[in-house]
Amino acid sequence: MKICMVLGTRPEIIKLSPIMRACEEKGIEYFIIHTGQHYDKNMDSIFFEELKLASPKYNLGVGSCSPGKQISLMLERIEEILLKENPDVVLVQGDTNSVLAGALAAKKANLKVGHVEAGLRSYDESMPEEHNRILVDHISDFLFASTEDAAQKIDNEGIKKEKVYVVGNTVVDAVYQNGDIAEQSKNILKSLGLEKNEYIITTAHRPANVDSPVQLKKLVDGLNGVVKELQLPLIFAVHPRTKNCIEKAKFILDDLVKLIDPVGYLDFLQLLKNAKLIITDSGGIQEEASVLKVPCVTTRENTERPETLTLGCNILSGVEPEKMIACAKEMVNKSRDWNSPYGDGKTGERIVEIINQ
Ligand code: UDP
Repeated sequence: MKICMVLGTRPEIIKLSPIMRACEEKGIEYFIIHTGQHYDKNMDSIFFEELKLASPKYNLGVGSCSPGKQISLMLERIEEILLKENPDVVLVQGDTNSVLAGALAAKKANLKVGHVEAGLRSYDESMPEEHNRILVDHISDFLFASTEDAAQKIDNEGIKKEKVYVVGNTVVDAVYQNGDIAEQSKNILKSLGLEKNEYIITTAHRPANVDSPVQLKKLVDGLNGVVKELQLPLIFAVHPRTKNCIEKAKFILDDLVKLIDPVGYLDFLQLLKNAKLIITDSGGIQEEASVLKVPCVTTRENTERPETLTLGCNILSGVEPEKMIACAKEMVNKSRDWNSPYGDGKTGERIVEIINQ
């Protein structure tokens, strides 16, 4: 048995790490193809170092370019490697261009494809991720759905039931496996001068929110409004590209808003776990919020994680400042009495067991 994992971005490294660990525990051979979609140290190599993961056997170094070019460069190089390595199954996780290229290359090489986190749908066709999810689900042989709801969505699209396994989400495994290590080894609260449960943590990277200066201005105004209203410091772990846009457009940030560069997973887990409120447009962070029992405001009009809304641990605000402030006020003192819908932290083991059988 030989498994190939194709990955290219921060969340894929984090969410595939429990599967890598499960392979190691069971003595199953695997190797990693890294497309290089993310390449900055704190979006990429820091995760391999901190989580003590095996280095990628292949790094394609594709980097940033237009989606068509990016996917075609990846496809050509992944195909070459797969034909040489001939793995039994190719695993991809999530919805990025790396995921689409990995799945398509494997399918064309007549190899089995496994999609981790299958069945997510925002039903928002303007999201590049939505096209990737749908395409990858339809060419996969193993669809690992996080919840019954995701499995139902796959079923609604006519994909054969016997390909679908409801296994939970590896994000829970990642939080459990790294949460204690983070608490013991990291001190980021102190270095940022933060008190537990007395600050807000924020990220933003969806093109719809950060690529247009008009939308980004609304987001910044919303964050300024939230900190004024709640009188809490806000840490904004911002991608360098977004930071440049904010600085170039000379948007004024309230004194309570502090921009920091993206940090490693252990630091970030500590920041999430001890926050009073999370404000984000990230998919993975909505899930982590539910696991860590921290209320979340999602600065989007829709989410492919609707169970977090039903549970009451997440709310959709979009980026209109008034709505952001109202949602933050509603969520900030919410009682944290929900249980995460994403499983028991053994999803990685389950996936490896299913593939092995
Ligand atoms: N994350 C991190 N450092 C940061 C910001 C986020 O380690 O500075 C982690 C976060 O805990 C989550 C993942 O990155 O596991 C989310 O990645 P991202 O928001 O880029 O992608 P998405 O989940 O939206 O696909």
